[in-house]
Parts: sequence; C-alpha cells; structure tokens
Amino acid sequence: MSIENPKQKEMLEDLLAVCKKNLPRVNEDLITKAFEFAIEAHKHDLRASGEPYFSHPYEVAMIVAEEFPLDDITIVSTLLHDVVEDTDFDLNLMTKEFGTEVTEIVDGVTKISGIFKGQDITKAENYRKMLLSMVKDVRVILVKFADRLHNMRTLEFVSPDKQKRIAQETLEIYAPFANRFGLARVKWELEDLSFKYLNKEMYEDLVRKVKSSRKDRESYIKKFSDPLKKKLDDYNLKYELEGRPKHFYSIYKKMIKRNKPFEEIYDLFAIRIIIDTENSNDCYTTLGIVNQMYLPVPDRFKDYISVPKANMYQSLHTTVIGPLGQRMEVQIRTWDMDKVAEDGIAAHWKYKEDKSTTDKDLDTWLDWMRDIFEGAGKDETRREILEDFKLNLYQDEIYIFTPKGELRRLPIDSTPVDFAFEIHSNVGYQCLGAKINGKIVPLDTPLHSGDQVEIITSKNQHPNKNWLKFVKTQKAKSEQYYTTH
Ligand code: MN
Repeated sequence: MSIENPKQKEMLEDLLAVCKKNLPRVNEDLITKAFEFAIEAHKHDLRASGEPYFSHPYEVAMIVAEEFPLDDITIVSTLLHDVVEDTDFDLNLMTKEFGTEVTEIVDGVTKISGIFKGQDITKAENYRKMLLSMVKDVRVILVKFADRLHNMRTLEFVSPDKQKRIAQETLEIYAPFANRFGLARVKWELEDLSFKYLNKEMYEDLVRKVKSSRKDRESYIKKFSDPLKKKLDDYNLKYELEGRPKHFYSIYKKMIKRNKPFEEIYDLFAIRIIIDTENSNDCYTTLGIVNQMYLPVPDRFKDYISVPKANMYQSLHTTVIGPLGQRMEVQIRTWDMDKVAEDGIAAHWKYKEDKSTTDKDLDTWLDWMRDIFEGAGKDETRREILEDFKLNLYQDEIYIFTPKGELRRLPIDSTPVDFAFEIHSNVGYQCLGAKINGKIVPLDTPLHSGDQVEIITSKNQHPNKNWLKFVKTQKAKSEQYYTTH
C-alpha cells in the first residue's frame, strides 16, 4: 500500500511532523502503516458530520501527539483505536501486523468504554484498588481522554439526546478523572463543552455576560495590578502577571453554590503571577509583597509549593481585598510549576529538552500514576474520591476482595467456590460455606465486584459434584473434575 491521495499524504506528513517535534523516538514506518491500515479499515464509514470516519482516529492521534506526547506506540494505538470495535478487523490480525503492545492498548481502550459507564460504587477504597489493578497501562487512559475530547469537540453533529447523554457522562466521569491526572486544560475544556450541551441557555448567557463585562474587568485588573507591578519591579523580580477569567462552568458552579446571579459574582477571575525564576523563595517574596499591598482574607492562604497536590500541582494561593473592596484570588508560581499546572505530568514530556531516555521515563510516569491512586485518600474525604472515580468495571470481569483486602479477579457470575479455588486448591477442596460482606450465603451465590468474601473451610469437607453445575472458572471445574471422578 502507498498513499496516492494528496490530502491524505499531507495529513500523514502533518502528523509525523508533530510526532517528530514532541516525541523522543518516532517509528515513522509503523505510524505510516497504522495510518494506511486505519484508512482501509474505516473506508466505508462516515462520521455523524458526514466526513470520512478516518478523520476521527486521525484527529485523536493529533491530540495525543500535541497534548499527551508519550511515545510512538501510543500514536499507532490511537490511529487504530476504533478499528476492532467498528470494523471487520480483529485483534489477531492486529497482533500480527502491529505486535502485542499496540493490540493490548487498543483492546484496553475498547474495554474501558464499558468501565466508564458511570455507576456508584459504595466503597471508595475498594474502588480505587480495582481501578489500580485495571489501569495497567496508562496509555489506555490517555487515548481514551483524547478520544473523548475529540468527540466532545464534534458533538454538534449528533442528536440532542445523544449530546445530553455524552455530555453528562463527560462531566461526571471524564472531567474529574482528567483533573486527577493533572490535565487541567483537558478538564476545563471537557467541563465547558459539557456545560454547553447540558444547559445551552445558561452557557450562552454566561458567554455573553463575560464578554460584555470584559472592559470593566480589564480596567479593574489594571487598577489592582499596576501598583503591584511597581513594587515587584522595585524588588527586581522578573514576572508575568495575568488576570484570566475563570472558565464558564466554574463561574456557573459559583453561582449555584452561592445562589447568586452573575452580576454578584466578583471573583470571576484570578490574578496569576508567574515568576521567571528557578528559586521558589521568590514566590514567597512575591506573596509577601501582595499581602503588604492588599489585606489578605484569613484562612484563604494555601501553600501548594511546600505541600504539592497529589497530581503534582504547585502554587501559592492567597485571597486579598482589592482596591474596590472586592475579593481577589492571587496565584503565584514559577514557569516550571505553571507548566505542570496546565499539563500535569505531560509537562515533563512536552517541555523536556532532551527527548532521549524514553523507557526510564515511561517507568517514572507509571510510578507517578500509581502514586496518584495510592495517595488518594490522604488529603481527601472518601466522598470526594468516589466522585472522582465514578467509574464502572470491565463488563466481563469482577473484582473480589479477600478478608485481608487483597484483590482477586474472576469471571463475571463467579461464585464463592470459584473464589475458594482461586485462593488455593486446598481452600477449594475444603470449602464448607462462605460469607459475602460478613453474611453467610449459599455457595452458588453470584459474586459482585467489590464484594469481600470469606471462605469457611472444614477438614472433613470434600468437593461436591453439584458444584460443577455453577462454577465458572476453569480452575474450579478442572480441580473438581479431577477429584470427583
Ligand atoms: Mn473513538
């Protein structure tokens, strides 16, 4: 195969150029092959917009290359992410053509669509463990974010019902999840797009009001920052000071929370001072200057430099009383901190000068992801974690806990007997009864994800032929077959 179509040729060149700019290593042949493969696989399909379907995986790959540039395997997987679900091509062929790594990511993306179906899970702690065990490869999550971002950006083309459903799911699940990964820009965009489709009137009203109040806002920012700039200059600090309006959805949330109209929300924007320094002491100096000039509001100071957030966010936050008696939030940080604040861990890839040591970096990234999940709960309440991780599970697998809190993965509809054999053959052989979440249950009771199961054993118990009627795992079946025949 080779690409004759000049438009496709140009698309491929554009993608390769972005990859070469942002990625440590680029296997051009493999990306080209995936590009051609995806065109072929989707050649009969159209998007809701009427464009050839291939424009979707292509644009998603561009988002990955621009926003989450991790490695070329992720780009290849992104180009192929809808091939298995939507066309006749299967995983075996994909493994043959692109190897197991790509196939596993593509398969993971397909499965995770089921996970992200939004269902309350009552035990946050269990839930977190389940999630950890599922997300073996974070590249799956990144492809999924990029996929959702592109679908949200092109949501105007689908039916109003579908718009609402997808926007709701995005707001409840994807946006908090992006936040958890430190991908602040993705989070804001997903929130504002969701808001636009869920509450069109309110959204458009806010867009109009923010726009029409721009002049007032700018003159207020000037009034606030001019004397401050003078003082910062006196201290010879190099900095950039900006007053950016908050995103529409966060303004809306404030209005709801305070039960006030737009006109009475004064903190529509925050002042951000980014200091051109490597030394975080300059941030504290700046804080001192701000607090000298304007009266700080008690209890509103947050030092995320000394104590970074779980997603590595660092910044100083203070709220002060401005020149017109209104509250103003001020954020102070260095450029490096600002990059992490905007792009999360992706910052480490995007802005790194030396793009050479990718395998080690990948490990660092994976460790960091694990830390995020392991660390969750230290600084947040369970409820918040729950809200952040309102996810579902793989549909064909369930996750069961031992009394000690260890996690076991079983096929759907497994029973306590399957679980017993999963623990150990002897536990299976001597299984007399079982408790699910502390309650005694019949041995053929189907288990559900998050259940904690305790097996009651007896030396006098032996495998029972009837068990074969309900066990699900191969292990339980073959062990019993062996001992009861
Ligand atoms: Mn897709």
